[in-house]
Amino acid sequence: MAAILLTNDDGIHSAGITSLARSLSHLGQVITVAPDRERSASSQALTLWRPIRYQEVGVDRYSVEGTPADCVILALNHILPERPDLVISGINRGSNLGHDIAYSGTVAGAMEAARHGIQAAAVSLARRAEFDFEEAAQFTAHLAGQLLNKPLPPGFILNVNVPAGGWQGVRVTRQDTCPIDNLIVESRDPRGRKYFWLDQEPEPRDLPADGDSDYVAVRSGCVSITPLKLDQTALELSSELKSWAEFLSPAACR
Ligand code: MN
Repeated sequence: MAAILLTNDDGIHSAGITSLARSLSHLGQVITVAPDRERSASSQALTLWRPIRYQEVGVDRYSVEGTPADCVILALNHILPERPDLVISGINRGSNLGHDIAYSGTVAGAMEAARHGIQAAAVSLARRAEFDFEEAAQFTAHLAGQLLNKPLPPGFILNVNVPAGGWQGVRVTRQDTCPIDNLIVESRDPRGRKYFWLDQEPEPRDLPADGDSDYVAVRSGCVSITPLKLDQTALELSSELKSWAEFLSPAACR
């Protein structure tokens, strides 16, 4: 029987991870190891400055005082009896597209699994409010079945974004590189002190009408599947930089 580990960054009580656990249950044993509270935008952060505790909160459900990456490490090294066949992170409340991939705790949960040689997918529902995870959970169950039959090579993950309210098709995409503006909302607390709240424009500037990016696919009503890799080396710069190596060598610097 297949073993599937679930994690997320919205916390163990989020509706996204609950629907996912239900929809995947026919594929094998589903074990949820997720943060005890929301950890969105925590990226692949690790908790190093305090102890990590966890609680069993149901059958095969564990709540962890830590980040998504902490959860995966704790699950693999302590909670799970053996290595899972697949890790799914999500379903996130809101998209993880373009530049946001760098901030995402959802994507980082999948990346942490890849770092340990386990295939993984991050799944997000592209919506800002009124989340209904059922369709995305059904889609993820299909995808998970495929991944169990045809595993990804080591070091790769899938970043999946499902549009809300029905989808027209499935596109394999690349990460969008259009700039997206961060916003700082300034206000005052009841005692008159200023505070700032980070926000973001809903879409990147200059988004093209068509193309193969993740944003464009989701805006067109399609599920976006972007393959991502652990190795971030920019090979296209290597040959140019090799000439720098000579220029920067100790002999040349003296
Ligand atoms: Mn989140």
